[in-house]
Order: sequence, then C-alpha cells, then structure tokens
Amino acid sequence: MDVKIEDLKILFSEEQIQNKIKELGQELNKFYNGEEVYAICVLKGAVFFAIDLVKHLNMPLKMEFIRLSSYGTGFSTSGKVNAVDISLPDLNGKNVLIIEDIIDTGLTAKFLMDFMHCNFKTKSTKFCSLLDKKVSRRTDIEPDYYGFEIDDKFVVGYGLDYEGYYRNLRFIGYVGEE
Ligand code: 5GP
Repeated sequence: MDVKIEDLKILFSEEQIQNKIKELGQELNKFYNGEEVYAICVLKGAVFFAIDLVKHLNMPLKMEFIRLSSYGTGFSTSGKVNAVDISLPDLNGKNVLIIEDIIDTGLTAKFLMDFMHCNFKTKSTKFCSLLDKKVSRRTDIEPDYYGFEIDDKFVVGYGLDYEGYYRNLRFIGYVGEE
C-alpha cells in the first residue's frame, strides 16, 4: 500500500509537539540539575526531536549521533537491530541521554541500553523517546521520559519516515482508516 500525503491524518500538530518538547526539556533540566550531559541522537528518525529538545536544555551538553536501523520496508519492523554506525567517545562516568523518535517493540531501546551497559560505566543512562507505542512492546523496556503514548498506528512526519519520505513534515500523521 502506498502512503499519499493527502491520506494522512494529523495525530500531533506542530504546536502540540513543540509544547510537549518544552515540557520534556523542563523535566530534564530539573533531573540533571546543571550536570553535564551527553545527548545521543539515534539517526535518522530522532534528528528533528533531538535538535529541538536540546535547545531547551540548559546544562553543559555535548551531542553525539549514532545510526541504527530496525525497520525493513513499509510498515513493519524487521525484528533485528542493525548498528550502522555506533562510534561513541568514552562515556565512562558521564550522564548519557539517549534520544529516540519512537519506541515500538522496544528492541532498539533494549539493544542500546545493553550496548551502553556492556561498554561503559556511565554515571547515568536515561532513555527519552518522543513517542511510545506501549501496545506493541516485545521487551520489558520502558522509556525514562516520553512525549506521547500512541496506539498501534504507523506514524510519519517530524523525523519518522515511510520508505524514506515524510521525515520533513512539521506534524506527526498517520494513515486513517475511518
Ligand atoms: P523498535 O525497535 O522499538 O521496534 O522500533 C524502533 C524504530 O522503529 C524507531 O526508531 C523507528 O525508526 C521505527 N518505527 C517504529 N514504529 C514506527 C512508526 O509507527 N512509524 C515509523 N515511521 N517508524 C517507526
């Protein structure tokens, strides 16, 4: 099935997304209380979220970018996480904030948390996802911070793609059935 832009229904508007990000920023500022943070953006989907989120953070902060892929083609996950590029600096003793676009099965989040625990003794490792599709979970992973919980819809926009398209939309939309 093809996804056409005119078939998309808005799930979260630009304004709703930006307000939520501001709230998340405030929560994170409170938690870190001025301590330095390494913000790790998971490419490609989280790039818009990560960049908007860090603008609200007021502690000393460094950004890193890693690239994973788990989606096959179309609407479903391949069930296997591929580390396309996961080169990171020494994160021992650091506060690490992993920034993701969406947690679906939780396989990507689990892979990343395991990777962190195996490779570094961080001061803290927190996981922040803009969207949380709790109903699709196949692992026991829960994000420490999330923006919106959604039901089992395939969403696009604001970094999330369908076959590489629609990342550039300012809103988050889905293909409506009704
Ligand atoms: P998980 O490993 O939790 O199953 O999935 C994580 C990744 O799958 C996300 O980073 C995202 O790239 C992709 N994904 C999961 N659900 C959706 C969705 O509804 N829409 C899009 N475009 N990608 C999704």
